[in-house]
Amino acid sequence: MDNKNIQNPFQNGMAQLDKVTKIKDFSKEFIARLRQPDRDIRISIPVKMDDGSMKIFEGYRVEYNNTLGPYKGGIRYHKDTEINEVKALAFWMTLKCAVAGIPMGGGKGGITVDPKELSKTELEKLSRGWVQKLADILGPKKDVPAPDVNTTPEIMAWMANEYAKITEEETGATFTGKPLDKGGSAGRGSATGLGGFYVFNSLRKQIGLSEKCKIVVQGFGNVGVNVAQSFIENGHKVIAISDSKGGIYNADGLDIEKLGEYKKKNGSLSGFAGSKNLTNKELLETECDLLIPAAFENVITEANAEKIKAKAILELANGPITPEADEILFKKGIPVIPDILANSGGVTVSYFEWDQNLREEHWSEKEVFEKLLPMMNDATQKTFKNAKEYSTDLIRGAFILALERISEKMGY
Ligand code: NAD
Repeated sequence: MDNKNIQNPFQNGMAQLDKVTKIKDFSKEFIARLRQPDRDIRISIPVKMDDGSMKIFEGYRVEYNNTLGPYKGGIRYHKDTEINEVKALAFWMTLKCAVAGIPMGGGKGGITVDPKELSKTELEKLSRGWVQKLADILGPKKDVPAPDVNTTPEIMAWMANEYAKITEEETGATFTGKPLDKGGSAGRGSATGLGGFYVFNSLRKQIGLSEKCKIVVQGFGNVGVNVAQSFIENGHKVIAISDSKGGIYNADGLDIEKLGEYKKKNGSLSGFAGSKNLTNKELLETECDLLIPAAFENVITEANAEKIKAKAILELANGPITPEADEILFKKGIPVIPDILANSGGVTVSYFEWDQNLREEHWSEKEVFEKLLPMMNDATQKTFKNAKEYSTDLIRGAFILALERISEKMGY
């Protein structure tokens, strides 16, 4: 992804934590423990490039907290990925698993790399290299990575294979997000988007939205495309969507499937029949019922929060709204359905994959979604109840739910 805002996301996570402790009393020792990861590891990965030269890449694994179960969290490949970003994402994973009610802790990994600049062979060597350096700390009962931005089921299959070669562990449960024929779960590809829809649908009436909303989506990757499809299949309209190059708008609604084919042929969304072009800035400020940031962090800040004209926001990217912008949106009366709840469908189905691998079972897509729906509804309604009880926003409502679950298990 391009154009990343470089505000320190870990500081944002800590600012969110501080705000919650102002409205609910948690033990000081517990909060102090949550302000530090259990460990953060930096590795260097030498890769012999196709031209015979050797290049050294920087990689990371942050194991934040394993109170509720093995560390769980994706691996991000991005040119701007650095330790603070990985730490922030690992912190949010800790809370997300707790909100979703799954027996997993929080972790995250990454490599500073623009994967588009590597050949497939180089990418495979790099991915296997990450596993070679970290195999000792990974494992189904220890730390279970998954895909994130720019990492694919194919990459997970290489990693799982490398791990199996090194350790002879046979369940395949150390990595999730694998291809279906290599132990992946049905429904994992669409789980984050569909889970986001379930969360929205559970809250829809409570936040005063209709059955036929106009939706704006930032991001045309795994999450953006799947969430757009889920909303359209359920009677809503996606009136604008964007990728890193910019977006398009059509008041009558966009056909996402045709748009996907168009992008494949033309390389961008621009010029799609019947639509008008938008910049990403304009897209975020478009009038709509629901805005869904589904690209990356820090896209709604103090600089543009006042200009947001959506009636509600569903955060599917991790950390797309800064704490300062959260305050502004709260004052404007725009409900924000927070990332640690809204995008938790992904990690929930990752947990299902881990569970299926360990039990040597395979669940159909229908079974997976039937298990996902009540879990998303339960997490959503508990978050809403907290927000009401503490007269606060949904973000703090979700944090309280997570912190209560973790602190209780830790014995505070
Ligand atoms: P992806 O790499 O598949 O897609 C990212 C999309 O963002 C691409 O379409 C890219 O063009 C677009 N983008 C990049 N720069 C942009 C810009 N400046 N403006 C608008 N769009 C831009 O990644 P993904 O898996 O869809 O993840 C998106 C977000 O969702 C990330 O924050 C990720 O951490 C979060 N998330 C993903 C999952 C999952 O299951 N994939 C689960 C939870 C959270």
